[in-house]
Amino acid sequence: MRVRMAPSPTGPLHIGTARTSLYNFLTARHAGGTYVLRIEDTDTARSTLEFERDIIDNLHWLGITWDEGPQAADGDDIGPFAPYRQSLRMELYATEADRLLASGAAYRCWCTPEELEAVRKAQEALKQPPRYNRRCLNLTDAERAAFEADGRKPVIRFKVEPEVIRFDDLVRGEVEFDNSLLGDFVIVRNDGMPLYHFVVVVDDEAMEISHVIRGEDHLSNTPKHIALIRALGYREPRFGHIPLILNADRSKMSKRKSQTAMSAYREQGYLPEAMVNFLAFLGWSPGTEEEIFSLDELADRFEIDKVHKGGAIFDRDRLDHLNGVYIRALADEQLALRLRDFVPAAVADEDLVRMVPLVKERLVKLGDVPELIGFAWEPDDVVAGWYEPADLAPRKGGPEEARAALEGARDTLAALDPADFSAEVLEQRCRAAAEAAGMKAGDFFSPIRMAITGRPISPPLFASLELLGRERSLARIDDALGKLGAVRA
Ligand code: GLU
Repeated sequence: MRVRMAPSPTGPLHIGTARTSLYNFLTARHAGGTYVLRIEDTDTARSTLEFERDIIDNLHWLGITWDEGPQAADGDDIGPFAPYRQSLRMELYATEADRLLASGAAYRCWCTPEELEAVRKAQEALKQPPRYNRRCLNLTDAERAAFEADGRKPVIRFKVEPEVIRFDDLVRGEVEFDNSLLGDFVIVRNDGMPLYHFVVVVDDEAMEISHVIRGEDHLSNTPKHIALIRALGYREPRFGHIPLILNADRSKMSKRKSQTAMSAYREQGYLPEAMVNFLAFLGWSPGTEEEIFSLDELADRFEIDKVHKGGAIFDRDRLDHLNGVYIRALADEQLALRLRDFVPAAVADEDLVRMVPLVKERLVKLGDVPELIGFAWEPDDVVAGWYEPADLAPRKGGPEEARAALEGARDTLAALDPADFSAEVLEQRCRAAAEAAGMKAGDFFSPIRMAITGRPISPPLFASLELLGRERSLARIDDALGKLGAVRA
């Protein structure tokens, strides 16, 4: 088995392309086959090396590797069929186009865009399907010469035979298309640039691809490809078209409406293992209740013919859920390493490790970490700027209760030996102070929480105090008391 992934570097790695890559990868690994990456960069106007880099880099981030093809955007191609970039394979396409011309399966066409547009309009008026009228199919030598003398440059069109094309799709089963509805399509532009339908077929043959697994958006292209394969005398691979990824409202996931670039998920702090697990389930399930699968386990279980036919809904809540599961499964030191890029460089590694237990239970994405525990590294005056004096009041109470709690807390913290400044001792002492002040524990704690973390909801309060240390905690309580004083004045 030889499968391939054939991205066009005309945009960053798309969620759908990532899922198709994953399904190809899993199919190859499951069968012990070979996985090829081919860069389809014949659209020179829109292809960039930067997009190629984004695609390769993010596939690698997901843990997807391939046996043949470019291993890095500016690196060498690996494999017996190199080069794997279509822009470097032009000679082969020219040879194959010549074969089609020689056999009569393709022909040159000199029609101008204006002429084609006029034909289309006329067909529309007659309520006929728009398709090329074959004006250039049987030109005389004199007519051809006249066009050339005119300075016109021809495209090459493939002559589509009026036949019904059937294939047994790995996902969808028997599929049937009537090619008599297709017009003769262009396979080489008049600047000599070969086009997708043609080059994809040439390369799949040249690279000995046995299974073409791609998005359902290519299903209607497959009868064209099969017609080309037959005309070129190639072997027909098996095709498998995997369902589109849909938004929750079943609309198509588009760049404009949805977040589709893999890099955006990476930047928000989704873990690659969670993303892979999530992508695998977009159109496939193991048929059991199990939901946590490593890449290896997926390769073990995944079968392309078990992929669902219907559209796969992109459920962000499920992704968040999975991400949380993977985050909580990490050891603290491991999670600290993953969080490194989401925390300012000035925060020392050992301090970061100390913060992890405070956030681990509530972290959905790594990128949420500054929101959860940024108070630990932000300067005191910044944290004091996150709340208004009125926010210090407990749920049942006003500035007086806030002041009582903050003063009680200040005395309690100041009386503590720095060596005793632990969450456990702090909790014990603060509860006693609340009682002494005649306040409910919750009402006593909430002004302290606001003063220390600048937020009404935070990681566990006493662990937060311990993390901050005595001096910084006292300074923040003083800031809060100062803000209350400002109100009174
Ligand atoms: N370059 C095509 C794409 O990006 C490849 C389609 C295929 O797999 O044949 O959609």
